[in-house]
Amino acid sequence: MRRARSYHVRAIAVRSRPLGEADAIVTLFSAERGKLDVAARGVRRPSSRLAAAAEPGVEAEWSLHRGSSLEVASAAKIVREYWDRMRDPDRLIASAAALATVDALCEPELAVPDLYDALCGALAAIAAAEDPFVYLPRWYMRALALLGLAPPADACVQCGGALGEGSAWLDASAGGLVCARCRPAWSDLPELTAREIAEFAGLAAPSGAGARVRVGSAVAASARALVLHHAGRQVPAIANAPVSPAEHRR
Ligand SMILES: [Zn+2]
Repeated sequence: MRRARSYHVRAIAVRSRPLGEADAIVTLFSAERGKLDVAARGVRRPSSRLAAAAEPGVEAEWSLHRGSSLEVASAAKIVREYWDRMRDPDRLIASAAALATVDALCEPELAVPDLYDALCGALAAIAAAEDPFVYLPRWYMRALALLGLAPPADACVQCGGALGEGSAWLDASAGGLVCARCRPAWSDLPELTAREIAEFAGLAAPSGAGARVRVGSAVAASARALVLHHAGRQVPAIANAPVSPAEHRR
């Protein structure tokens, strides 16, 4: 699709990395265009009007124009920010984990409008929460589901057989749950009981379709392990963010 030379896009800033002396490349996530990198000139100068909009987690209406290699930001008008609430370090850590998920899982320039809405919802929930880490497992599984990466909760990802009423084991390297027969004997995979498998399914379910937010620690850790598997690389912002009260107290 040919785009006009200048255009607007509503997007959430995901991360920013320095470029030259005062510029930065800001990774944005938008409903219309998915993840895209834009050059923000002078954004690291104190007088920059783009700096606040380029802060991770801020939603803004960006004015962009096509440069020779990257899109170049000319202006940005903030739509939503949670600065006051993000003084709480737990909320900041949880919000960073949510943004890192988009950065790790999304292909550039691939629009996933439902994921944009889910991210807006997750950031709002985290910003308002007393225990923001509670929201991470659901966010991880919804992100996987909306990207077509969530494993079935009723079948073994190795043999395709029904899991039935018994336990299953989370084999993150296989991308989902495995049955007793496919479970590698030499490895100590986390076991999920039938009740926990139902929680696992609820994490990925759309709102109203048996959706779950609060789950046990084994299920929560399974959601994180799957996101890290699909990221295909180390993502400290996700790996180090607690997903259950037990981890949080440690
Ligand atoms: Zn199997």
